[in-house]
Order: sequence, then C-alpha cells, then structure tokens
Amino acid sequence: MALSKLNIIDGIIQDRYIDDIPVKLQIVKLMRKRNVRTLIKLKECIGITNHNTGNSAPSAGDELHAKWMQNVENIDKQYVSAHLFVDQDSITQVIPLDEVTYNAGDGKGDGNYKTISIEICENGNVLKAEENAKKLNAALIMTYPNLKVFKHQDWSGKFCPRVILTRNGWDKFVEDIAEYVKRAEGKTAIETKEREMVNINSDIYGYRTAVDGINDKNRVKKLPKGIYPIMIKHASGAWNIGKGYMYWINPKKI
Ligand SMILES: [Zn+2]
Repeated sequence: MALSKLNIIDGIIQDRYIDDIPVKLQIVKLMRKRNVRTLIKLKECIGITNHNTGNSAPSAGDELHAKWMQNVENIDKQYVSAHLFVDQDSITQVIPLDEVTYNAGDGKGDGNYKTISIEICENGNVLKAEENAKKLNAALIMTYPNLKVFKHQDWSGKFCPRVILTRNGWDKFVEDIAEYVKRAEGKTAIETKEREMVNINSDIYGYRTAVDGINDKNRVKKLPKGIYPIMIKHASGAWNIGKGYMYWINPKKI
C-alpha cells in the first residue's frame, strides 16, 4: 500500500488503512459534559500538533487511550482531549477532526482551536509508533496541503513530545514527514517550472516521452543542442524538458 489522500466525512476518517497501518474508530460518546467532546467547531485548521502520551505502561497503546478518553468524558473532572492516538501497530481516532480538542494547553489559542492533535504512544516500540505518526501526519498534509507540523511545546512550552525532544529528534521528525509526502506525491509530477530555461550545448542524453505518457525508454539518444524550457521537474530529480515531444532527462547523467 502507499500513502494517499484521506477520505474524511464529517471529520471522521473513512479509510481503514493509512499506508499499512490499520485505522480504528472509537469516537467518544457525547455525555453532555464537554470535557473531551468540546462540540466547538474547528473552523480554520492550520496544522497538526504532535505529542507523546507520557505513559510508558506496556498496555498504554492507542486502544487503551481511546477508553481513557471516554472515561475522562464520563467522569467530568478534567478537560483534556486529542483527535488521534497512534502506537506501533495501529491508529485510533477518538474525536472528529473538525471539532476543537483540549490538547495544547493554550486555552483558546491556536494550538487548541486550530490544529489536529496526535498523541504518539510510548508503550511499546516507540520508534515504530513515531514512524506511524509520521505517516499519519503525511496523509493529513496530503489531504489538507496547507497544514504545518507543530509540537505541543510550540504552544505552551511543555516539554512534549518528550521522547522525541529528549533525543533532539524534532527536526528529523518534521523532515521525515515532508519526505513521506514528497515520495508519495513523487509518482505524479510535483513541481512545474514552465519558464525555467535550460541550455543544452554539450552532449546530453535522454529519452523521448510522449504526451500520451508512453515513454520511449529503449531509445535513449543525444539531444539536439539548443535552449529548452523545463516543463516539469519530478520529485525523483529528473526533468521533462521541451515542448511537443518532451525529453526525460536525469540530470545525474549530464
Ligand atoms: Zn503534549
């Protein structure tokens, strides 16, 4: 399987898998107490806030946290919530994505009111859980392309996600998400540079690629000298240059 855009209806993820990770739904039932189910509309989503659960008990995976969320709603003592929990082998959604969660400790600030919240579990294989969280972030970004990746610390200063921050891994975490998005979208062209010109005045080899998508890969040949516009730059680093018949060039061979 591969990462792709999610199908989300009324804030609920319809996909049963994100890449190879099963997605479960345990939407917290309304108890009219608003501790977890705020029922406040998340009107303008600007990003995704990532957390660690802070609970390293072996049983504390996404399923148990979903039960805990329902308990918090039932007991009516604490205002805390997150949309999604992810561990080493699954993701559980507990709140519709279009509803505000009390995740970021910033009151009515943007962390609570304008971001989707993800809790990364610490119960088992933490690195696998993080990898799954990266894919979840990537799938959300592919679905809503303007989302930025945040950490809890950005909103309230809390040292969270503590596992990632402890090993100074935040920048890498964000980079890896971008890489997942790039790789998934790399199957189609991601960057169009119609006005950028390339001057071919030495021997450059490529193959012709037709408008109908059939590539003439078997006939790699030297390109005529001249100035060509770059039509599309692919995530792989290769270029389609020229008009009409385009030539597919891998710049590493230039
Ligand atoms: Zn947190």
